[in-house]
Amino acid sequence: MTTGLAGALLADDGATVQHLVTHRRELHASPELAFKEIETAEYIAERLDALAVDRLETGVGGTGVVADIKGEAPGHAVLIRADMDGLPIQEAGDLAFKSNRRGAMHACGHDVHMAIALEVARVLAENRDRFPGMVRFAFQPAEECAGGAKPMIDAGVLKGIDRVIGLHVWSELPVGQISVRPDVVMASADQFTLTVEGKGGHGAQPHQTIDAVVIAAQVVSALQTLVSRETAPSSPAVITLGSVHGGTAANIVAGEVVIQGTLRTLDRELRTRLLGRIAELAAAVASAMRGRCEFRHDSAAPPVINDPGIAAVVVEAARGVVGAEGVVTFEPLMVGEDFAYFLEARPGCFFLLGGAPEGPRVGHHTAEFRIDERCLPIGFQVMTGAVLRLLQPD
Ligand SMILES: [Zn+2]
Ligand SMILES: [Zn+2]
Repeated sequence: MTTGLAGALLADDGATVQHLVTHRRELHASPELAFKEIETAEYIAERLDALAVDRLETGVGGTGVVADIKGEAPGHAVLIRADMDGLPIQEAGDLAFKSNRRGAMHACGHDVHMAIALEVARVLAENRDRFPGMVRFAFQPAEECAGGAKPMIDAGVLKGIDRVIGLHVWSELPVGQISVRPDVVMASADQFTLTVEGKGGHGAQPHQTIDAVVIAAQVVSALQTLVSRETAPSSPAVITLGSVHGGTAANIVAGEVVIQGTLRTLDRELRTRLLGRIAELAAAVASAMRGRCEFRHDSAAPPVINDPGIAAVVVEAARGVVGAEGVVTFEPLMVGEDFAYFLEARPGCFFLLGGAPEGPRVGHHTAEFRIDERCLPIGFQVMTGAVLRLLQPD
């Protein structure tokens, strides 16, 4: 039955491809930034409503849209997540469906994710008698600032759900390839601010001051040892202090310096430990030099870690679409993804869909970002095949 329906979809009369391309292009032309996905959410809700889904809710965790489609027999409850936000980038090039909004662009491929999820919803809604369980679609705001997943989960989107699945189109993976990892897929991403406090004063009377610049210099150096001396060489970790600001003039001792940084790891425990050590070491260095240092955790996303059992099901579905040779295990990426929050709460899988365009390499988050639309039906088929398998009762 599973393969029967998936097989029927493979032999689609072209309606699926047409829907995928139309939705993707219309969404691409009208990108909206994080938490401002108003028209995007309306666009999605309208189409889901037309499918007579069993439940439709808007404004979930901000601008999120949630829809349930129930099968006719008992089975698993699977959540499919698609992110909706674009990026503050002015689109280059001259695509016919180029962004019509100045300074906003779908430069990460979230238009692709939405188009695929919408088409999966249509096909499932029209075949309710042919699958068990329940599928919930979560169209999520604000992935790019890692701020959208948690509010949706806090609003109860995982209630009654026992498995989760999501995909990301990837411009550096060839079309026809699907990357599924049984473990970590993407890194944790935390941003933090360290505020070093000393005591300002005259540049010629340093003994009457506590120089926050000198303390900050020691803090910057000391933090380099957390990866080089406290982390196993076999465990990847990055601490980058990308911004240091303090002082006003050459002859004035600065009383305050603000350091901003980011931490990336592939491991939940290492992440927690290093976050704690950054705060602890910075405070201890500052205190040893008569100053103070305060740690503020600005934003966070845990590492994206797949469940090996669910990943195996996705591999099976992907093989059915792109063949065994098309299923690869891409190296874990040091970028962050807030689908991690869904995977912390439920077993699931996040996989990469090859979408590399012809010609020179294009990176995500650039004005030149493009994908090859031939990836759309592939992503749709893999997602549908995986979901149909995951819905089956044990
Ligand atoms: Zn992105
Ligand atoms: Zn993205």
